[in-house]
Amino acid sequence: MEAENRLHVAVARAFSLQVHNNSVKAEIIAIGSELLTPDRVDTNSLFLTEQLNRLGIEVVRKLVVGDQRGQIRDSFREALGRAELVISIGGLGPTEDDLTREALAELLGRRLILNEAILLGIQARFRRLGRQMPEINQRQAMVPEGAIVLENSQGTAPGLWLETDGRIVILLPGPPQELKPMFTQEVEGRLAWRTTAVRLYKRELRVAGMAESDVEQRIAPIYTRYPDAQTTILASPGEVQIHLRAWSADATAAEKLLKEMVERVVMALGENIFTTKGESLEEVVARDLNLNGATIAVAESCTGGLLAQRLTSIPGSSSYFLGGVVCYSNDLKRVWVDVPADLLESKGAVSMEVARALAEGIRRRSGSTLGLAVTGIAGPGGGSPEKPVGTVHVALAERAGGKERTLHLPGDRDRIRWQASQAALDLVRRHFLYAQQGKQQNRG
Ligand code: ATP
Ligand code: MG
Repeated sequence: MEAENRLHVAVARAFSLQVHNNSVKAEIIAIGSELLTPDRVDTNSLFLTEQLNRLGIEVVRKLVVGDQRGQIRDSFREALGRAELVISIGGLGPTEDDLTREALAELLGRRLILNEAILLGIQARFRRLGRQMPEINQRQAMVPEGAIVLENSQGTAPGLWLETDGRIVILLPGPPQELKPMFTQEVEGRLAWRTTAVRLYKRELRVAGMAESDVEQRIAPIYTRYPDAQTTILASPGEVQIHLRAWSADATAAEKLLKEMVERVVMALGENIFTTKGESLEEVVARDLNLNGATIAVAESCTGGLLAQRLTSIPGSSSYFLGGVVCYSNDLKRVWVDVPADLLESKGAVSMEVARALAEGIRRRSGSTLGLAVTGIAGPGGGSPEKPVGTVHVALAERAGGKERTLHLPGDRDRIRWQASQAALDLVRRHFLYAQQGKQQNRG
């Protein structure tokens, strides 16, 4: 306890050397040859990054390294040359390829000492499971000189906490079901009481109906004037996300900065922004439907149920979603939602006219406030010079009329289907937005 307290004070001093408004910098080293194959990904670092960010610690670099002692040692050396906090994941097991302890002890020039208490704990754990401890498990009781042992409530390998030159190194086990509770029970508290007042403040804006380059062009003049915030623009099918992040010791100042940035970005992108709180498009549409006491039903062709799936992914969706049909064949478009046969004949199933008829048909059949429809060519086959793959029509019907859009979408089948569902949901969102704006104008 005494030694532990001294260490805490030493490390607290190291952290307090931080310049104000500067986050504590951490690096994560994920150790395991399986993480360098196409079969496994390092998911533990995502969890760790989230937890560290909450404590005001910024992860500035992550590395994946195989089970090779030299490589592991070099990774620790490089990371410790840059960051105040280094956390490794994995390689604490009992087998020959678990080399993290040895590599770090070698780098720091510390002896590995058998820790009797850990050994007894591991033996007891095996006894409880009705087995004898295999000899190799003794390796897990080897502790580098001066290290604090982090108890593993879910497995045999304890974690380790070392301090060297005012820097902290934390060794955590690889299995996520061991790492997570160990972080929460053993690491978080030790880090929390010594970190600075710096915290991460963030906003997530999402845009529909605009290309990434257009978003960038319109907002670059804004965010480049805010060097204290990190701005990231992320494109995904049918959506562009704008992430704003600021590390600061001053909550009020950070919130003010982000608020101002959000206001300017909203001014620049207008109604193309569907959320400033990181919501999905279906969440926004669900809220609009509920607020307006409206119901919706869908008739889908090329999206094959994706629209219905997204609309029902929100808890409580029965308050606005009445149901839908997937009418792939011309016959079912006719029989289920009354699309006129001559329309299908003259315009073809993938046409604006048929999209409109599908939307109106499902609205009438279901008695919903809104009917929403999609028809298109998702590919890879089925395209023609007049209607190439990616041609999609979305239509929204209401009692007083409707809205529609024709899209020419890039990408493979999955991307086209997703973007089609996104465009259809965006039609609903814009419908309520314009209705709202109309009301305000009438009032004013
Ligand atoms: P053990 O005592 O189980 O051997 P360990 O600390 O040696 O623990 P590893 O052998 O490296 O851990 O990994 C054990 C399991 O945890 C494996 O299934 C591995 O794929 C998984 N794992 C390891 N590292 C990660 C990671 N960074 N993200 C997600 N899973 C991981
Ligand atoms: Mg391993």
